[in-house]
Amino acid sequence: MPYLIGLLITLVSIALLARPILRRVQTTSGSSSLLDSQGDSRGDGVQWQRQQVYDEIKTLILDYELGNIPPEEYNEKLGTYRLQAASLLRQQELLLHESRYLVDEMEDEVLALRISWGTVKEVTTCGECGGERDLNAALCPRCEFQSEDGGSPITTSPSEEETS
Ligand SMILES: [Zn+2]
Repeated sequence: MPYLIGLLITLVSIALLARPILRRVQTTSGSSSLLDSQGDSRGDGVQWQRQQVYDEIKTLILDYELGNIPPEEYNEKLGTYRLQAASLLRQQELLLHESRYLVDEMEDEVLALRISWGTVKEVTTCGECGGERDLNAALCPRCEFQSEDGGSPITTSPSEEETS
């Protein structure tokens, strides 16, 4: 009997140790690092809705990147989705600024996609928000900061030097 209990304890500790590793694998595989971090036990519906918003934002960004929708429509819809994401986040008692983070994460994903397609040749760091963006993009997709040189390689930024 003590033997069985020992075995049980071993199994439980293995399971506990393995969990963060599984999470990390899930994160690198792509879809839902944010979504998994909170509310595992409750609010599956909310989580599903957030996944939907996440997917829609991703589609929207890709459409915009491909030139299927004009910037005005992009900004308008992105604003709507951010509000949706924010209200869903509130339901999960998370902070509102995470919806901003959600969008940034999406931009990273899309940027990686575009690099893999060859649409983006060079990436630069935004002098305003420090996020990565297409070197040739006139506006930073995250903070809408307009690069003054209009897309030539950054030498020195007027405000501060960014090295990453
Ligand atoms: Zn920026």
